[in-house]
Amino acid sequence: MALIRVRGQARPLQVLRSGLASGRIAGAYMFVGPPGVGKVLAATQFVKALNCVGNGGDACDKCANCRSIDKGEFPDFYVPAKQNRRIIKGTSASDEDKLFLGQIVSRLHYAPVMGRYKAVLLEPAETLTDEAGSMLLKVMEEPPPKTVFLLVSTTESSVMPTLVSRCQKVRFTPLSEQDVTDFLVNERGVPEPLARGLAAASEGSIERAEELNSKGALNQKLEVVDFLVSLFDASLPERVDRSGRMLSLLGDVERKAAETIGTIAGLLARDIMLASSGMDKSRLLLAERADQILDVASRVQTQGALKLCAVAAEFHRGLGRNENPRNLLHYLGNSLAGIGGMGCRTENTG
Ligand SMILES: [Zn+2]
Repeated sequence: MALIRVRGQARPLQVLRSGLASGRIAGAYMFVGPPGVGKVLAATQFVKALNCVGNGGDACDKCANCRSIDKGEFPDFYVPAKQNRRIIKGTSASDEDKLFLGQIVSRLHYAPVMGRYKAVLLEPAETLTDEAGSMLLKVMEEPPPKTVFLLVSTTESSVMPTLVSRCQKVRFTPLSEQDVTDFLVNERGVPEPLARGLAAASEGSIERAEELNSKGALNQKLEVVDFLVSLFDASLPERVDRSGRMLSLLGDVERKAAETIGTIAGLLARDIMLASSGMDKSRLLLAERADQILDVASRVQTQGALKLCAVAAEFHRGLGRNENPRNLLHYLGNSLAGIGGMGCRTENTG
């Protein structure tokens, strides 16, 4: 595993590679971007490339330094999070923890033990305590030679601005669905159709795709698709009844069940959108239900499909705001019935 094997992220890798090629290495980098897109992986491979004794500007994966970093044993690479050191907010750092950071900082003033560069990986940087931040800031103001700080964060606005201003920013973006699919298929052995569905629901994050997979979010996708499709033609009492049954079918925790329904509603919305624009049915994410999807698409047309996408997105945001799952399902059912032309009957029968 070297930098070249970090998926997607051509731009950030370009920044790191040109630094390696020119030998102009910043004293501190801040890797910013959504979770699960390869920031920590890229940071680790960068530290390997900096210390690799092979030649080629990237990690060789074979030399003693590369192997030592892979094993987490490299004496010049400090990763406090890996050693469960609490220099983060929300936990009370013990004296021992403070001493630990102090020890790292004091060791940075000496030459590297084994490699060419000493590196400190701070992740997630937004949770550093003020005390730790100030200690780091002091070092970063007068950086010891051959030392690289790597701060990893999802949003730079939540990191101490004085620290941010000392770092060269390297921005990471969500991965493409193809990258996530390839990862799941090649590295995790996920069957391709499932991998495509997970990737589509992953928002470009491998972490999120793996989380969906481990929760079995798509295990009951066909039941959920049938439920959602049935809502287009359901009266209000039917919608309430079916929603309740769907929630209990999906498990004890209503919120999790609603998350599953939201994820699949997003996939369905996308498929209806694709079907209404004439996409070949074998390309649909929910290809097992292609006929129903084509049927809905021909009824609701592109305009209905667009509304459905907006509804699925709103449902997702509602979950993010911690709204009541049953209320959200009520909203989803009403919206689908509205799109399917059952909105009026809703009012009469409800
Ligand atoms: Zn090497």
